Amino acid sequence: MPLDTIKILELLATIHEDLDTDTVERRFFALAAQVFDFDRLALFFVKHQKALLQGKLSRGFAPREIEAITIPLSDQFILTLPLITGIPLWNQIVLSDPYAGALKLTHFAVIPVMNRKRVPCWEITACGQKQCPAYGNRWLRCWLISGRKCDPDPERMLHKCQVCPVFQEGSAENVEGILLVDNSLSKRPIPDHTITVLTLIGQTAGSAVNNAKRFAQTLQVSIKDDLTGIHNRRYFNERLTDELERVARYPKEPASLVMVDIDLFKKVNDAHGHQTGDAVLVWFAGRLAAALRKSDTVARYGGEEFAILLINTGKQMALEVAEDLRRQIESDSLPEAGVRITASFGVATFGEDATSVEHLVAQADKALYAAKAQGRNRVCQTP
Ligand code: GH3
Ligand code: MG
Ligand code: MG
Repeated sequence: MPLDTIKILELLATIHEDLDTDTVERRFFALAAQVFDFDRLALFFVKHQKALLQGKLSRGFAPREIEAITIPLSDQFILTLPLITGIPLWNQIVLSDPYAGALKLTHFAVIPVMNRKRVPCWEITACGQKQCPAYGNRWLRCWLISGRKCDPDPERMLHKCQVCPVFQEGSAENVEGILLVDNSLSKRPIPDHTITVLTLIGQTAGSAVNNAKRFAQTLQVSIKDDLTGIHNRRYFNERLTDELERVARYPKEPASLVMVDIDLFKKVNDAHGHQTGDAVLVWFAGRLAAALRKSDTVARYGGEEFAILLINTGKQMALEVAEDLRRQIESDSLPEAGVRITASFGVATFGEDATSVEHLVAQADKALYAAKAQGRNRVCQTP
């Protein structure tokens, strides 16, 4: 079947539009499935922390057959070898590969999905060894040339390679997964030009997935507080707005806001130093986060002020949660420095006390000031 170039270009353009990893992967898989005529296709993705290849999407295979597959990253398996070499593998004779054997692969290709930077090894190492066969070559790197021969222990060799900057810059960290295309049922050969086109598409998809990942990391950084690692005020305000809209639609599921301020924190800094003060803030944030439900949101709202959004929680219950937190803080101390602190709490409830985010925050603040005015280390509600 002649390739539909316009369709490929159209679909390729949409891959870069989305900044969500899952969507990019699905679009890439849909493109390969729509444009090419294979018996079966499967998409596998690398779990970098675990050094595993994990089956994710498939067509033509038995239900959950692909999703159940995880393979350690190694040059010994047909499905993971292209992750190490960075080049596609096809029309191989499968002798004793357990994964390829189980899937009964005979007419197939494994295409790497990678963000290929094409940095030659000698540019990374600046070795100047012009006699090396990898020198001057944009595609061949030391591990592709020497394979596993330069260390008698293949496991040790692979490990050495995986931690080497040449390996990482050139391939490993940039490899996102593989696309398996297969005609083993109909026994139709896969033409070379199909492999070439798929490899180029795989590189585009790899770079799109890589971009999506970086974008998600950046987003993550922008919603977290640097010091304590819990959410920041910006994220908290967004969550408050969302929750206010939800409560307006479902008034039977209330939500409450608790503002918390550490008492006389200036004295902690004065007595123990700013560094200990910072450690107290980190500890305090951790205590709050650990004591709350997963569905609640806690954020650092300002210096030593924190905010808690309790969903599905009316006034009475919010007061009880706050009182519980207050008691926990009062009876505990920062382990290493032995610093003891207390905190004051102000509670306000959506609907009951306010119908806008700004008003709700003002009401909780008012309650917090009341707690301070009454002597600190207590919970107050909107007067
Ligand atoms: P109150 O009970 O009235 O809240 O007294 P306070 O001393 O806690 O309140 P005040 O607003 O006078 O002082 C807050 C202190 O928190 C002053 C500031 O130096 C300290 N602070 C704010 N942010 C940080 C931080 O990131 N690290 C440290 N170590 N201290 C901080
Ligand atoms: Mg304070
Ligand atoms: Mg304060």
